[in-house]
Amino acid sequence: MTEAVISVQQLDKWFGKHHVLRKVNLDVLPGQKVVIVGPSGSGKSTLIRCINGLEAFQGGEITVNGQRLTQTRDLAAVRREVGMVFQGFHLFPHMTVLENVMLAPVKLRKLPQAQAQQRAQGLLERVGIAEQAHKHPAQLSGGQQQRVAIARALAMEPQVMLFDEPTSALDPEVVGEVLDVMRNLASGGMTMIVVTHEMGFAREVADRVVFMDRGELLEDLPPAEFLGHPAWKERRTSCGACC
Ligand code: ADP
Ligand code: MG
Repeated sequence: MTEAVISVQQLDKWFGKHHVLRKVNLDVLPGQKVVIVGPSGSGKSTLIRCINGLEAFQGGEITVNGQRLTQTRDLAAVRREVGMVFQGFHLFPHMTVLENVMLAPVKLRKLPQAQAQQRAQGLLERVGIAEQAHKHPAQLSGGQQQRVAIARALAMEPQVMLFDEPTSALDPEVVGEVLDVMRNLASGGMTMIVVTHEMGFAREVADRVVFMDRGELLEDLPPAEFLGHPAWKERRTSCGACC
């Protein structure tokens, strides 16, 4: 059997007395694309943040590329395998686009400047934004900034990319350009976990759609099956954020 890139087993997470993840299981095989949906507050972001080692958890196990998060002494090494794109872009405002993409490989991977710059330029081309390389983030549209954020995450050559509502903060007219970049990444074989309300994207790209509610992972189905599910219509109305 192929080993999962991400394996979440019986994950339990509390914030104080609030039980926010309840025995969550999720295995993601190399190259798989998993879309996570569910109402606001259901634990989607918390799950993603646990996988990236950004949140501690109280029960269960998470394994990234064969390394158990609770056992490893080098959480930073695990994090380097996982690229993360958030709803807000979190770019460094005082740096150019190019410098934003170069920073982590130079600081964390000790890549020489010239090599980092060449790679960053290539990534900016890949996300369709090479001509903006010397601008600052504030000079770009939200869609362009999010594409830079994707390039920045890719610069660390991660094994898996996690996206937490990458288009939710964007003006509707630029959502498509970000989804296009994500589609390209998917067709290039990247392993991806994507929290999104973009059901068109899920239908087209996902191997599986996972539904969460109140900290529980309730369904894990191929998109056609999930979207054809009679319960989905009802859930759409409870989603609150999208449909
Ligand atoms: P989603 O991403 O599905 O909207 P979250 O993972 O953000 O859900 O939140 C799950 C639950 O955990 C919510 O009830 C939220 O209020 C709570 N929560 C999230 N982050 C924190 C935190 N840092 N401290 C306390 N409670 C939190
Ligand atoms: Mg969230």
